[in-house]
Amino acid sequence: MSAFPAVFVSHGAPTLALEDGAAHQFLRGFGETLGRPRAILVASAHWLTPAPSVCAVETPKTIHDFGGFPRALYQLSYPAPGAPELAEQVIELLAAAGIVAVPDQEWGLDHGAWVPLMLMYPATDIPVLQIALQPQLGAQHHFALGRALAALREDGVLILGSGGATHNLRELGPSALPPAWARDFSDWLNEKIGNGDTDALIHYRTLAPQAARNHPTEEHFLPLLVAAGAATTGRGRRVHTSTTYGSLMMDNYVFD
Ligand code: ZN
Repeated sequence: MSAFPAVFVSHGAPTLALEDGAAHQFLRGFGETLGRPRAILVASAHWLTPAPSVCAVETPKTIHDFGGFPRALYQLSYPAPGAPELAEQVIELLAAAGIVAVPDQEWGLDHGAWVPLMLMYPATDIPVLQIALQPQLGAQHHFALGRALAALREDGVLILGSGGATHNLRELGPSALPPAWARDFSDWLNEKIGNGDTDALIHYRTLAPQAARNHPTEEHFLPLLVAAGAATTGRGRRVHTSTTYGSLMMDNYVFD
């Protein structure tokens, strides 16, 4: 069996779960394209902790970690089983790479995890767990998290980074076409990932065009580094690009 691909998805706004659109449509067919993993390990932009943590609950709750959205969104749930044994294995793999992580008994699935999963794997029958991000530790740390976990892909685990190719919530708008600053960043990403230039990705903050404007804070970019870190060759391919809310690039990548 070949290794399960590592994946990065842009999740946009929580309404992605309900509202039809290019990214919604793509994710609806994406799970079938990828195939069925044994389990799914999600690095979401919406779980940030001081130190590395791995959710080890048996039954992850669906967390509605957003405000001011339509009532129907709060009624959605993703009742997939957890993966406490896999959580232990994740912690061991991280330890072997010199990263100390702790099991968490509180979290569940935030919308960065359950919104794309609801579209990709609607049957909710695949065990899911989350690994937290530590934005204060920077890009290299998140690449190292992915690298430490790469072996899980051989075991049929989908390592899924969920964030946003661009994510500046102060510059949203009605346009269907992205502004040049978002498009240039998205094109740069596509080129570096296509070339397997992981060094450029790790140093995106200084190398990418208008990195700080596209990511005023880093948490929506860091899941991409986890997925890229889990890539064997470092190379990936863009499997989808579209825009929502004027400037949110909804690009998705697969790392074989
Ligand atoms: Zn988000």
